Amino acid sequence: MAETKRQTVRDLRRANRAALLRHLYFHGPLSRHELGQATGLSSGTVSNVTAGLLADGLLREAGSVDSDGGRPRTLLRVVPDCGLLIGIDVGETRVRVELFDITLAELARADYPLTDQGHDVGSVVRHIAAGVAAVLAAAAAGPEPLLGVGVGVPGIVESGVPGAGGAVVHGQTVGWDAVPLEALLRAAVELPPRVPFFVSNGARTFGQAEMWFGAGRGARDAVIALIGSGVGACIVTGGEPYGGADSAAGEWGHTTLRVGGRRCRCGALGCLEAYVGANALLERWVEAGGAAGAGGQGQEAALAALLAAAEADQPREVRLLEETAEYLGAGIADLVNLFNPERIVLGGWAGLLLGPHLLPAVRRAAGAYALRHPAARASIELGRLGTDAVTVGAATLPLADFLARGGRPDAEILARGS
Ligand SMILES: [Zn+2]
Repeated sequence: MAETKRQTVRDLRRANRAALLRHLYFHGPLSRHELGQATGLSSGTVSNVTAGLLADGLLREAGSVDSDGGRPRTLLRVVPDCGLLIGIDVGETRVRVELFDITLAELARADYPLTDQGHDVGSVVRHIAAGVAAVLAAAAAGPEPLLGVGVGVPGIVESGVPGAGGAVVHGQTVGWDAVPLEALLRAAVELPPRVPFFVSNGARTFGQAEMWFGAGRGARDAVIALIGSGVGACIVTGGEPYGGADSAAGEWGHTTLRVGGRRCRCGALGCLEAYVGANALLERWVEAGGAAGAGGQGQEAALAALLAAAEADQPREVRLLEETAEYLGAGIADLVNLFNPERIVLGGWAGLLLGPHLLPAVRRAAGAYALRHPAARASIELGRLGTDAVTVGAATLPLADFLARGGRPDAEILARGS
């Protein structure tokens, strides 16, 4: 009984710490009075909890504001460098490792180009190990303040597989067959065992970033669509990412656009990705007699060349992009009819590169293919965080964990009993 009661009191204290820290993180600086009003906690509780957070170095005082006739009220804010976060994007053209402070301001980054679109797991793991060491060295930081490492990967991420030592990745389009990525990273990356890894689908981490800090802010029901070499989506319903039975939901790129159509990298025929992913779009350009790949240029340069030709009114390229906008609009119409989102955000390097040109035609096509009522509600916008959104989103994974714990590991709370 007594143990249960202690447990409950401890849970309550942690929940209060987490509520105040989270509110200050997203809405600070705020006074204790404002914090109490916003969270519904009593002034005594706010005062106790903030004293603990100040003593732990997670908050600092940030000036004061006048109150109505009373004493000026001191403002509190979260200390930006009270911890460090690493976000990693395992993309198809490069591995990017970024070090952030707690406000997600970038402190250092390291990029490693991939020539095989990320098929070789061993080289991806080596790049990550080198990148983590490089960004910590560049910021002259040791691993002590590191709160965790978030990794966005192509494919479906499964957790809780017995004997796998953490997250397992099923990346069908890059040939990753049940890769025990977390265990591989744990073995290769030189970090203390207490630093947690969080592995998630790249479209999901990208979606989380746009929802927290970008074009999705304020929306409860949204789809964040990632268009790069491949195509993915993060579906948010009621403010939470939708995972499905196996956290595999959101594989929008592998929904069927044309039965018996083009061969997709996943092996099936006629997937949306096989028409609007950058890889596929460049292949379609070559098939139409275009110049993609000439001179061995990278995908981004090739896609920019295609866009420039369309903007110069070259009929073949104009037609190709019109067709692509219609495919993309039809794919978005499926999302509108299935999920009734209030907002659809297009991002990813290819989505952002082509977006300003394609958007009017994509909106027209989505409106024409979707049911009128849900289509009238859904806005289609471009992402605001640029191509760094996947690393920012990956860093939000350890950040969310930090905020949910009230800012410190459970072991410390247990040891102090406070
Ligand atoms: Zn496919």
